Amino acid sequence: MPAAVADEGVVLRRRNYQEADRILVILTRDHGKVSCLARGVRRPRARNAAGLDLLGRAQLLLIPGRSLYVLAQARPVGAAGRGDDPVRLACAALFAEAADGLLEEGHPDPTLFELVGEHAERLLDIRRPPRPELVLALFRLAAEVGYLPALDRCMGCDKPLENRSGSFVPELGGVVQPPCPVPGGVSCEAATIRVLRALARGDYELGRRLRWGPQLLPETEAVLVAHLRHRLDRRLRAADVLAQLVEAGAGG
Ligand SMILES: [Zn+2]
Repeated sequence: MPAAVADEGVVLRRRNYQEADRILVILTRDHGKVSCLARGVRRPRARNAAGLDLLGRAQLLLIPGRSLYVLAQARPVGAAGRGDDPVRLACAALFAEAADGLLEEGHPDPTLFELVGEHAERLLDIRRPPRPELVLALFRLAAEVGYLPALDRCMGCDKPLENRSGSFVPELGGVVQPPCPVPGGVSCEAATIRVLRALARGDYELGRRLRWGPQLLPETEAVLVAHLRHRLDRRLRAADVLAQLVEAGAGG
């Protein structure tokens, strides 16, 4: 472990530790993903707790401890108008969980840091609907780390995808369209496949202009969650929480 680290970071994971501490996993700009012990942050009126919520962004000072860095100082950066309704927080938690799963410890990458930081801010921005922002955030993150699904050709017959419905099959990493037999997966309307393909071409502005209708939003969300779950081989617990909230009519 090198000497003290001064860096900017976005919180990806938080775990309670002992009576009042937390272990934080933070994506930093210049040191990549690091873990640190934040002493006393669960006490009421704790010094240093600001900016350390999930996806919070802070300027940090970390000092080497016995096996982990110890957080010596945290000063929040930005985060005005941070929304805290349950659907928004579940979306933020899902993005954080996916980023934590996709990124390894260390491996500094300032471009990736900016991407995660920008989407963290958008997801928590009270003026923006969280679920479309989540779709864009997960999509861009997957694209940046080279984990996009295959969206050019039918995974059954290798013919170019056509403008009709199909099914995203996580085990195949792409879409199967009839007349190929569809082995389960996430059903997608033609519009969903069109939007996924536009995003894969990097047309994120389309994603912002779109009216996310009652099929398009849950289908694109379900495709990305199924894809990331398969690629990461992990549950993505926040996706279950989000699904329960949506099921219960919490909207978003
Ligand atoms: Zn086919």
